[in-house]
Amino acid sequence: MAGIFKIKFKESIKRTPTVESFRFIPERKIDFIPGQFLQIIFDKDNPDNRELNKFLSFSSSPNKDYIEVTKRLSESNFSKRLKDLKIDDEILMKGPLGNCIFNEGYKRIGFLIGGIGITPVISILEYIDDKKIDTDALLFYSNRTDLEIAFRDELDKISFSNPKSKVIYLVTDCPSLDKNCIFSRLDKEFLKSYIEDLKTRIIYIFGPPKMVEAIKGLCLDLGIEQRNIKVESFMGY
Ligand SMILES: Cc1cc2nc3c(=O)[nH]c(=O)nc-3n(C[C@H](O)[C@H](O)[C@H](O)COP(=O)(O)OP(=O)(O)OC[C@H]3O[C@@H](n4cnc5c(N)ncnc54)[C@H](O)[C@@H]3O)c2cc1C
Repeated sequence: MAGIFKIKFKESIKRTPTVESFRFIPERKIDFIPGQFLQIIFDKDNPDNRELNKFLSFSSSPNKDYIEVTKRLSESNFSKRLKDLKIDDEILMKGPLGNCIFNEGYKRIGFLIGGIGITPVISILEYIDDKKIDTDALLFYSNRTDLEIAFRDELDKISFSNPKSKVIYLVTDCPSLDKNCIFSRLDKEFLKSYIEDLKTRIIYIFGPPKMVEAIKGLCLDLGIEQRNIKVESFMGY
C-alpha cells in the first residue's frame, strides 16, 4: 500500500548526457513491485504542487537496499532540486503507485520502449535477474542516437548473463557504427517482422503519452490482443 517515506540521498549516476539516476536509502524497506512508480515530494506543504512534486518510476529492483529513480534532466525547478541534492539530504516520497506491474507468472514478456520509458524496464529486468525468475524477456529499445541509450552497460550485462533476456537497440537519427544497433524506427514495418513472436508475449509499453498511444495503436493494428498489452504513460512530458 502507498505510504509516505523519508528517503536519504546517497548518490547520483550519469546515464547519458541528459539522463541521470538518483539513489536513496529509505528509512524502512519499501515493498514495491517492478513496474511501479513513486512521487518525489519537494514541497510537502502543498501536495498539489505539480512543479515540485513529480512522479518517477522505480529504476531499481525491489531486492536492492537502495531505491533508484532516473530523470531526463531539464531546466525545470524539479530537475534543479534533484541535481542540488547533497549526500544524506532527506526528502519525502510517496508510493509505491501504479498497476502496470510485472507478474512472476508471466513466462514471456516484451517491451516496446522509447527513450526515458526504459526506467521501469530496468526494475523488471534486474528483478528477474536477481531472483533468477524463469521469464523470457525481449526488449526493443529505441533512441535517437547510440549516445542516448541509457543503462547500456546494465542491459548488455543482463542479456549476456541471462540467455532468456534479449535486447534489441534501435537508433532513429543516423546509422550507428555499433553493429548491435539497428537503424530503424519502432514502427509498423519493423514490428511486423517480429509480430508472430510478440503475439506470444505480454507486451509492456512505458514512456511519454504520445509515444505510448502510438505504439499501442500499432500493436492493436498488428493483431496483438488488448488484454496482453500493458501501458503506463509518463504524464508531464
Ligand atoms: C507514472 C509516471 C512515471 C514517470 N516516470 C518517469 C521517469 O522514470 N523518468 C522521467 O524522467 N520522467 C518520468 N515521468 C515524468 C515526470 O513526472 C515529469 O513529468 C517529466 O520528467 C518532466 O519533468 P520536468 O520537471 O523535467 O519538466 P517540465 O519542465 O516541468 O515540463 C516538461 C514539458 O512538459 C510541459 N508540461 C509540464 N507539465 C505539464 C502539464 N501539466 N500539462 C501540459 N504540459 C506540461 C512543460 O511545459 C514542458 O514543455 C513519469 C510520469 C508519470 C506520470
